Amino acid sequence: MNDTSKRSPGEGPIPSDLLDVVVVGAGLGGLYMLYRLRKAGFRVKVFEAGGGVGGTWYWNRYPGARCDIESMEYSYSFDDELQQEWEWPERYATQPVILDYVNHVADRFDLRRDITFNTRIKTATFEPSAEVWTLTADGLPPIRARWCVMATGNLSTPQTPDFKGLESFEGDWYHTGIWPHEGVDLSGKRVAVVGTGSTAIQMIPKIAAQADHLHVFQRTANFSLPARNAPMDKERERAFKATYPERRAEARRTSFGVSGYPLPTQSALEVSKEELVARFQALWDEGGTIGFLTCFNDFLVSEEANEVAAEFVRGKIRETVNDPEVAQLLCPNDHPIGSKRLCLDTGYYETYNRDNVTLVNARATPIIEITPKGIRTTDAEVEVDVIAFATGFDAMTGALREIDISAAGGERLRDKWEGGPLTYLGLMVNGFPNMFLITGPGSPSVKSQMIHSIEQHADWISDCIEYMRENYITAIEPEAEAEMRWVLHVNEVADGTLYPRANSWYVGANIPGKPRVFMPYVAGTSVYREKCDRIAAAGYEGFKLTTESNPASAVAGS
Ligand code: NAP
Repeated sequence: MNDTSKRSPGEGPIPSDLLDVVVVGAGLGGLYMLYRLRKAGFRVKVFEAGGGVGGTWYWNRYPGARCDIESMEYSYSFDDELQQEWEWPERYATQPVILDYVNHVADRFDLRRDITFNTRIKTATFEPSAEVWTLTADGLPPIRARWCVMATGNLSTPQTPDFKGLESFEGDWYHTGIWPHEGVDLSGKRVAVVGTGSTAIQMIPKIAAQADHLHVFQRTANFSLPARNAPMDKERERAFKATYPERRAEARRTSFGVSGYPLPTQSALEVSKEELVARFQALWDEGGTIGFLTCFNDFLVSEEANEVAAEFVRGKIRETVNDPEVAQLLCPNDHPIGSKRLCLDTGYYETYNRDNVTLVNARATPIIEITPKGIRTTDAEVEVDVIAFATGFDAMTGALREIDISAAGGERLRDKWEGGPLTYLGLMVNGFPNMFLITGPGSPSVKSQMIHSIEQHADWISDCIEYMRENYITAIEPEAEAEMRWVLHVNEVADGTLYPRANSWYVGANIPGKPRVFMPYVAGTSVYREKCDRIAAAGYEGFKLTTESNPASAVAGS
């Protein structure tokens, strides 16, 4: 017997081809996961499809790309020196600045040496007898690890509608989610933007300022609020940095993981309509979306209160847009405000007052084909040089479904999720032991400040793997019943709100044939964190743990 016989999983030397943990994705989630696990002494490697770190911020380089959460919040909290030293130039950071920040983090913590870039994981298979995950990618030998963490992102599978004739288009076309790294010079060009979601709403003012003419193809109008972006207020930055730990702790007690927006306690029905309007006006003047979403505890529950807010914003659109017909077309009328992702803009509605911008009603006159010269709707052919598809993503499940994930008995994740994603806490899936999801479906994920939720998940996962190491546990997976209860709970919570009333990507409505299931957990990040912590403290309640009967044999690589 050699000296490895006394190791628990993850301790000491291991056979060179067996990792402790393989992480898929080097976005904000994968990077922090690597940092945490490496710090805990595990042997970890990360595999990333892109040529650099940053995930969503690596790929989404369209004009105007910017975060809609304030920079002082949308940043890692795990290292106080990092958050003290980094200077954000604006209230809301642009994509290039965020990408600089992510690169800085990768360098500062020496993360790159464990990341393999330009490598797209194709398959992930769990061998139950060995309790090992094997992942494959083109051009690499199989990657073997005891644990697998999918940090593949919630919005990382761009969707371009299957338009007839797209291949015949003689101009250039792009999807915003894979925008060329060198940028696209649109000056003097006739441009079409298809879509009016968060991405398009950021991009349209920028393109309008550059293009000869811009046609916007809108199928569904969305609510957008002003960002009131500005250079960073140095006094605010100083005050924030002086109390960063308290701010971060406060964020953990909120619905969306953003400090300054405590859990609302007042019902909108307790205040007069005049007061409601005055509150919405103050929030409109302040800028940002979180204030609207957290102003009342029933903003997303009470149709009455929600409609006051919706009508308030419609009034602003009518005030801003000169042409009443265009204004009316821009007024959302098919979903409660906030039930789809609330957009944040700089000069979006104002853009429609420009002579070089035309709004096309792609609901009344849908796009029927792309022609060599442009876009044909049921009404006319619009000739353009460039088409920018801001048509969104196969959200929350797309990236995981792209990898052929299979486990015990050959069950495939794709098949298991045929009727919608099934997870316990959005962290693990029954039948797929030792595989963790960062911000998976069934967790607050996209309904929260993403870095906040990423850190919470990566901390929970790292703690769990450390617990397994300490307790000679070789495998963990959710009990089928606990998973089912969680899925029902996620749906019950959503059904108590106005969220399911919208045809949003939260329910997969943007992907033809995708089952309509509400995917994020919307009880709030503080409630969710408390549940995750309680379950872990109770010895991972609802999880099935396999403990090696003879701890001496529960060694890494055994
Ligand atoms: P999206 O919200 O899914 O919007 C896609 C748009 O494309 C919708 O307007 C949709 O219309 C339209 N569309 C799709 N297929 C179409 C077709 N065949 N014909 C005409 N229109 C079509 O996608 P997104 O704007 O890329 O945003 C996705 C998410 O990314 C956001 O919700 C947000 O969470 C995130 N994001 C965040 C930021 C940030 O600030 N941090 C910025 C951008 C994006 P319908 O609504 O009618 O389907």
